[in-house]
Amino acid sequence: MKYNVNDKGFYGDFGGAYIPEMLYSNIDELNKNYLSIIEEDSFSKKFNYYLKKYVGRPTPLYYAKRLSEKYNSKIYLKREDLCHTGAHKINNTIGQILLAKELNKKKIIAETGAGQHGVATATVCALMGMKCVIYMGEVDIERQRPNVERMKILGAEIRPAISGSKTLKDATNEAMRHWINNPDDTHYIIGSVVGPHPYPDMVARFQSVISEEVLYQLDEVEDRNYPDYILACVGGGSNAAGIFYHYLDNKKVKLIGIEAGGMGIETKKSAATTTLGNKGILHGSKTLLMQDKNGQVTEPYSISAGLDYPGIGPLHAHLFDSKRGKYISVDDNDAMNAGLELSRLEGIIPAIETAHAFAVFDRLEIKNRVVVVNLSGRGDKDLETYIKWGKY
Ligand SMILES: *Cc1c(COP(=O)(O)O)cnc(C)c1O
Repeated sequence: MKYNVNDKGFYGDFGGAYIPEMLYSNIDELNKNYLSIIEEDSFSKKFNYYLKKYVGRPTPLYYAKRLSEKYNSKIYLKREDLCHTGAHKINNTIGQILLAKELNKKKIIAETGAGQHGVATATVCALMGMKCVIYMGEVDIERQRPNVERMKILGAEIRPAISGSKTLKDATNEAMRHWINNPDDTHYIIGSVVGPHPYPDMVARFQSVISEEVLYQLDEVEDRNYPDYILACVGGGSNAAGIFYHYLDNKKVKLIGIEAGGMGIETKKSAATTTLGNKGILHGSKTLLMQDKNGQVTEPYSISAGLDYPGIGPLHAHLFDSKRGKYISVDDNDAMNAGLELSRLEGIIPAIETAHAFAVFDRLEIKNRVVVVNLSGRGDKDLETYIKWGKY
């Protein structure tokens, strides 16, 4: 079984590029060029330079002693929360903006829901002196003030999406429309391992620096370069793809993705795609998504904005389908408790997305096993949610 993308852009049954004809030329240009560009020595030199000097890589692999004692296990935390801007997303935006420059693009567009990907994009646009337009649903602009202001401080223009539910999917539609009308000078930075091929593969490659580091960091402390378990939360699936990447073919490693159960999968207020979803086309790729009988995408729900997405990337759909990966859903309540537990045991307040990955230790047989958890982001942005939640 092959877990990586094939030359047609598919992961098993999933993936591909299901796009309107108007987008063919943009996607075709990327498709023809992305591999040759990112495999060039001069490109990886630049990419690694910015990852090291600007993002702050390599991020530590930290042995969580008190957490390990509590669960009778050996738990290591991959500290993506220590990246510049507070999460793994910047690994991808650095990679894509360097690629855009190689393709002679002058402008960057992106869509954002909670604003985390928007901030990571606005950041690298400031860094590279490129014009930046971020599409965001009107409702999300209201809900995510601090991130909207961050993007503006960084010099980005925010364009509200005012159609439909005025949220992420509408912002995505607007960004696509913009790209169709400006194919020559604009690159569209997608923020997760979703969208038409080659985006899922491209984003996974940029994020794979995470597992590339885990290989040697684990070897230094465990005398072997692989753990028994890798845990990561899954929204679209980019932080999980990054930390799974170099272990996809190593069957000794159990790959565990944690999805947002929201209020509980039986309540319909959920974002647990592998449990509630089925096959369909979402944002240009064939994958698993939550939809009604007529194929209309259903509105997801999670307490964490970054997991509040109705699909998963095609790589994860394939890992789930082939049983190479195991996907577990965690409700808001358990995620919040896990976030508070990590705060108290290790002095690390995680992003609420990340907290989901810390709520499943009891559900796995991890006694005396080596476990690596991707600590995808820090909780500063979620302080309001923690405060509202209370109970600490
Ligand atoms: C955006 C985000 C996620 C979810 O996105 P993936 O593509 O699934 O990684 C998870 N954690 C944090 C901290 C995020 O900002």
